[in-house]
Amino acid sequence: MTDIHTPGSKRTLGTDVVIVGGGIVGASAALALRQKGIAVVLLERDVCGSRSSGINYGGVRRQGRLAAQLPLSQRAHHIWARLPELIGIDGEYVRSGHLKLGVCAADMASLENYAQMAARYDLPLEILDQQQLRRRFPWISQRAIGGSYCAEDGHANPRLVSPAFAHAAGRLGAQIFDQTPVSRIEHDGQRFIVDCPQLQVRAPLLINCAGAWGHRIAAWFDEQVPLQVSCPNMTVTEPLPLFMDASIGIEGGSIYARQVSRGNCVIGGGQGYTTSDTTARPGREAVLELMKVASGLFPALASAHLIRFWSGIEGNIPDRNPVVGPSHTTPGLFHGFGFCGAGFQIGPAVGEVLAELIDDGHTPTPIDAFAINRFSTASSTLMSTTIVSGDE
Ligand SMILES: Cc1cc2nc3c(=O)[nH]c(=O)nc-3n(C[C@H](O)[C@H](O)[C@H](O)COP(=O)(O)OP(=O)(O)OC[C@H]3O[C@@H](n4cnc5c(N)ncnc54)[C@H](O)[C@@H]3O)c2cc1C
Repeated sequence: MTDIHTPGSKRTLGTDVVIVGGGIVGASAALALRQKGIAVVLLERDVCGSRSSGINYGGVRRQGRLAAQLPLSQRAHHIWARLPELIGIDGEYVRSGHLKLGVCAADMASLENYAQMAARYDLPLEILDQQQLRRRFPWISQRAIGGSYCAEDGHANPRLVSPAFAHAAGRLGAQIFDQTPVSRIEHDGQRFIVDCPQLQVRAPLLINCAGAWGHRIAAWFDEQVPLQVSCPNMTVTEPLPLFMDASIGIEGGSIYARQVSRGNCVIGGGQGYTTSDTTARPGREAVLELMKVASGLFPALASAHLIRFWSGIEGNIPDRNPVVGPSHTTPGLFHGFGFCGAGFQIGPAVGEVLAELIDDGHTPTPIDAFAINRFSTASSTLMSTTIVSGDE
């Protein structure tokens, strides 16, 4: 790392790799690069782990992911098991089990098909009929007619986990700059020149981990990604007696729910709305609707008070997969953004994959489905911009 600051001028740093964006993906990449001894500067517009990565539902699940994501997700599963040794805290990560409920025969058929596909990726799922469901999870109402259970999926506290990845990278020597927005990036033929108001960073390698804003950085390098933002609704109840001993999803994604050890239930579902380029609020009607669904399925919630609501901005891509891998226009540029409401669990594995691409030029984890050039050959169906409700 070279600091080539001259008095009176903007501070200028030279490094091996510069990362834009300090969410769980950028911070994980910084940590993985430092583990390989590679010098890295991470630039974050706000505070590391304060955007999607720090305010999400906290679902750490493999069940429900598209097939293309399952190898990455399995890799992440092993990383989550090593959280304390990796980032110094357990992040309230618990393998509570993830139970996806079905409320009609079509849901159950879909859960069964998914379980067959997931088995090919070594993800064992247990299909429960109504009687088995009732016996194992008596706190779920008769509205659910069955479910699919993944014993080792679970949840964690994003507020703790995501900033901790950045702190861990910093402890290993990554130079981390909060409140440092990147306003312009140029390439002089050899290096990227990354401009922020108070700082310029020069590096031969650049990773774009700018989350819901990553497509804008890609566009600076003539790469177009049809990303649209979504704003998942989140709410949390007052502490209640413990009853919910699995993280819950619903086939079709209407709501999701978990209970933390302090007793609060965290419940998500539906969409809020943006109030600026970087801020979002939950939607009132959608929150009322999600509580109606939640209390219908979980009678213990019927008279619970809600104590907090929030939303955040997430990048969605029509095929529901992120962009991960090298640029197709600019050697030395790598992307990791657009995680479609589900990047918290796979984020740490994406960081490792990006560090491998930088270090070795390849990764053992299949990432072809996430190539940025898939949009230049995409059909008009793929380019449609429907935002579906999240599946945590
Ligand atoms: C409400 C909600 C609930 C969710 N629930 C879950 C869940 O339960 N499980 C799950 O797996 N996923 C969930 N997700 C999705 C998950 O949180 C995200 O996919 C993941 O955090 C994305 O990580 P990231 O690092 O790509 O993005 P972010 O966390 O958004 O980080 C990107 C960072 O880039 C910075 N940045 C952008 N532009 C610039 C610039 N020009 N200069 C400097 N910095 C810049 C931003 O400030 C931001 O901090 C949820 C998302 C939301 C919003």
